[in-house]
Order: sequence, then C-alpha cells, then structure tokens
Amino acid sequence: MKGLKGKTALITGASSGIGQAIAIRLAEEGCNIAINYRKSLEGAEDTEDMAMQQACGQVESCGVQSLLVQGDVSNEEDIREVMKTVVDKFGGLDILINNAGIQTERASHEVPTDEFDRVIGVNLRGAYLCARETIKQFLMQQRGGVIINISSVHEVIPRPMYVSYSISKGGMGNLTKTLALEYADRGIRVNAIAPGATITPINEAWTEDPAKQAVVESHIPMGRAGTSEEMAAAVAFLASDEAAYITGQTLFIDGGLTLYADFREAWSA
Ligand code: NAD
Repeated sequence: MKGLKGKTALITGASSGIGQAIAIRLAEEGCNIAINYRKSLEGAEDTEDMAMQQACGQVESCGVQSLLVQGDVSNEEDIREVMKTVVDKFGGLDILINNAGIQTERASHEVPTDEFDRVIGVNLRGAYLCARETIKQFLMQQRGGVIINISSVHEVIPRPMYVSYSISKGGMGNLTKTLALEYADRGIRVNAIAPGATITPINEAWTEDPAKQAVVESHIPMGRAGTSEEMAAAVAFLASDEAAYITGQTLFIDGGLTLYADFREAWSA
C-alpha cells in the first residue's frame, strides 16, 4: 500500500492476537516495527520472527527493522520510556497503533473500583497517554503522522457484564474524533477500527469450545468470527496514504454484527 515503506510504527500489546497480526502486516508493507509487550517476551519474539519472515523471507537485510520494547501502557513512566526507546532506535515515529486492551466479566453492580480503574487505565487512559506522547513527537517532527485506535463493536453496542470495557471503547470513539479534529490541520490523521468477534486469546472462553463458538457465530450475519489478519488489513489501509483523506472515523469490521441482525426478517407481516 502507498506510503508505508520506510515508516516507523509502534504497536502496543503486540505479543499476541490482533496486535501481533498488525505488526506482521505493517512489516510486510515495509514499515519498521516497534513491538510493545507488557509481560510476554516470548510472544513478542514470535511476533518479531513472523514479521521479519513475512517482510524479508530469506533475505538477511531487507531494510525493515524491528524492536522489542517492554512497557505497561497504563503506566505513564513506561510510556515515556517506550517512546524514547523507539525514537532513539528509529530516529522518529510515524504510526501509533493503540491496540493493548483487557476486559473483565462481572455484573456491573459488583465491579470493584480497582478492577474498573484497571480496565479504563489500559484501554482508554493508556490509549490517550500513548496518543498524547506520540502527538508531541509528531508535532516536533513536523511531518504529520497516523494514529489508529483498536476499538470494538462495543464502541456502540452496550455490553452487559462488561461495563468498564464498554465505557472504555465508547470513550475511545470520542478520543478518535476529538484528536482527529484537533490535529487535522497539522497532517495528523486519527482513525479507529472496531472489530467484531475475532479469534484471539482474549476470547479463549469461546474460541476453544466449538459449541460456544457456534453460539457466538449464530449472532453474526456473515456466520463466522473474524480473523486478526482481516483486522490488520484494514489497519494497513488506514495507516497508508491510500487513506490520506480519512480522519476521525471508526471502521467497523464485524461481519455485519452492528447491522441489527434481528431485523433480517420482518417482525410482522
Ligand atoms: P489479546 O489478549 O491477544 O491482545 C491484547 C494485548 O494487549 C495482549 O498482548 C496483552 O498482553 C496486551 N496488554 C494488555 N494490557 C497491557 C498493558 N497494560 N500494556 C501493554 N500491553 C498490554 O486480544 P486481542 O483480541 O488481540 O485484543 C487486541 C485489541 O483488540 C484489544 O484492544 C481488544 O479490546 C480489541 N478487540 C478485540 C476483539 C476480539 O474479538 N478479539 C473485538 C473487539 C476489539
């Protein structure tokens, strides 16, 4: 895709799932990739191996470089350190992918405050702080940049038992729009993708049980869950110059989940 070769991308939470697929896809498109991980160095190394294999094949040096960078996005000091490490290594930053995310399941009236704070701290506050530090860097570089937030269909669909997750993704929708509007005139584009049910470790509860997976998929108009690679393809497009005139948008990638599937057949004749 146009405009990705030679760019530097930082992907948070890239040791598994959608973040891993995004890192691999952006490397394939010729980006240098900074693979942020919180705990799983092994997962991050897998991402790096697959990304370099995809980008370079058997070629030892194909111009694409990678960096593993540990850090917790809910910790401000960690974020500053991650940014510094990335800029020191690559000399700048062009693309931030706010992917790191967690969820917990509990009745809304029983969620302990520290659990609520933890989910918001990673999914929303973390995404904002990473965006804030990235925008400072973009403004200093004076060549614009791209931020892509990994939101969710729960940006718009309420999700009982997951109140902090729903709030975090709803907030992410407005984070995307607010930053897009504020920095549009300085060449900074801010967009989001909103995945539907996607086969990744966050969904182990149903991806490892065929009966439960069938129930999930019965609610999806296209009849199947999505893949991380399908999410990564849209991210690559939004990060590229093919999307040069797109900002402030959330692209729903959900097999039709947000189309009010219950209205497929008329309710009354
Ligand atoms: P995942 O669990 O594989 O990925 C989440 C990643 O975030 C993990 O690598 C985890 O280590 C990392 N992470 C968690 N807390 C972190 C922190 N404090 N600092 C740095 N990294 C941290 O699951 P996934 O499905 O790939 O999730 C990626 C994103 O996609 C999340 O934001 C999630 O909300 C979103 N999403 C997923 C789905 C889905 O169905 N899988 C649907 C909609 C949105």
